Amino acid sequence: MSEITKKVRVRFAPSPTGGLHLGGVRTVLFNYLFARQHKGDFVLRIEDTDQNRYVEGAEQYIIDCLNWCGLNPDEGPVNGGPFAPYRQSERKKNYRQYAEQLVKDGFAYYAFDTTEDLEEQRAQSANFRYGHENRMKMRNSLSLSEEETKQLIADGIPYVIRIKVLPGETVHFHDMIRGHVSFETNLVDDKVLLKADGMPTYHLAVVVDDYLMQISHAFRGEEWLPSAPVHILLWEYLGWKKDMPEWVHLPLILKPDGNGKLSKRDGDRLGFPVYAMNWTDPKTGETTRGFREMGFLPDAFVNMLALLGWNDGTEQEIFSMEELIEKFSIERVSKSGAKFDIEKAKWFSHEYIKKAEVSSIRPQILDDLEKRGVTVKNEEFLDQVITLVKERMTYLQDFWEQASFLFQTPEQYDLDSVKPKWTDAKTSYFNDLIIKFDSLSDDQWNPTYLEASFKTLAEESSIKIGEVMLPFRIMLVGGKFGPGVFDIASILGKEETKNRIMKALNAFNN
Ligand code: GLU
Repeated sequence: MSEITKKVRVRFAPSPTGGLHLGGVRTVLFNYLFARQHKGDFVLRIEDTDQNRYVEGAEQYIIDCLNWCGLNPDEGPVNGGPFAPYRQSERKKNYRQYAEQLVKDGFAYYAFDTTEDLEEQRAQSANFRYGHENRMKMRNSLSLSEEETKQLIADGIPYVIRIKVLPGETVHFHDMIRGHVSFETNLVDDKVLLKADGMPTYHLAVVVDDYLMQISHAFRGEEWLPSAPVHILLWEYLGWKKDMPEWVHLPLILKPDGNGKLSKRDGDRLGFPVYAMNWTDPKTGETTRGFREMGFLPDAFVNMLALLGWNDGTEQEIFSMEELIEKFSIERVSKSGAKFDIEKAKWFSHEYIKKAEVSSIRPQILDDLEKRGVTVKNEEFLDQVITLVKERMTYLQDFWEQASFLFQTPEQYDLDSVKPKWTDAKTSYFNDLIIKFDSLSDDQWNPTYLEASFKTLAEESSIKIGEVMLPFRIMLVGGKFGPGVFDIASILGKEETKNRIMKALNAFNN
């Protein structure tokens, strides 16, 4: 492990442009684990300088997602912190001075080209890049005289500030996952740093803020790797190189077949969520489903994400947050993309619901029942039902499918499984069973005792147990599914069990 000498400060720096992709949450998670492991700080910084891409509600949504996952930042727009404000739009005044400093030092220049000029260039050459090859042919402070430049600025002609990338150099840097990375500056264009409205672009803002906020390690998705040379040049040109964070470009999360980055569209196409929580586009009103609404527990979601591109070198797959904090290491994050596998995600979901404390999932289940207009007799009953069915659930939403028969007497029965083999002897058996059950005391009304009574009566009536078990289940449940039938009877209670047997006998004998 490379030695960490600085105070660990990491940041998640999303642009509030829409739903939060699971890759984004994984970036949050790795930031969070790393910060906790090194007793550092985890910062949330909202990168909202691109007003064209700004989407109403997206920032709050991101904050809610982090909160749902239990990955709350130490500093950010909600709880503030020593480097506030944490929204770049509110830091606007910070950036110009650095862009101007770069101009003064010869690492940037004013460019007065109009949108039309640039469009014309692009029309002439499809791969037009504003850079060392053509910057002298454009309208900027490098091609114009100092006088002309001053005059244009004095006349209020709009301009942007562009980085002046020196050609023929190689930018080298170290990435904690990829090792040594290099880029040729010939291929890097003169990106805009400060826009005509005085707002910084992402490139300038990310560097200035990582510097001002004393970020020690910059975790971000691999899709930002092509931007890294511009950032590294800025660190260098601004004279901050010794304070530059360690780079950690995380591998992509791939489509299930491994062919390219997993997108929202893949999720829609293949029927699984890609966003952490439901996201409603404020413009179209369209809602995209999230893992939360699909019925994932946040711990399951987080555990599943941790394993997308990381493992601890053993076969272990279920990790508590404490274990993740202890065991996470950048060295064990793979370089190659991680395929998203919905079946594996379901497995995590199932495992977590199975081991969840009843009290921790009760609120969501109550919520779901309320939405369905189901009133719960008492909490104890509900807890027994949850205990009984949770190991059969993949998602929280499966509760109703697995347990509805415990809240309502079946209206229909799987008669095909019962009627062809139905006999008078079976009718008498169940009539006797009602009497037998009726005689049981409250203490005796438990699965073990019920099963024993059921079996004894079968022996006494010379009926094979196998012949009455399935009908009994169908009487209580309506179909051939559900958990142990004596567990069901035990939870339903004496009266309801008797009623269900009677009601079903009528149906079976008609
Ligand atoms: N604002 C960028 C984004 O939307 C952040 C990239 C970075 O972390 O540098 O993802």
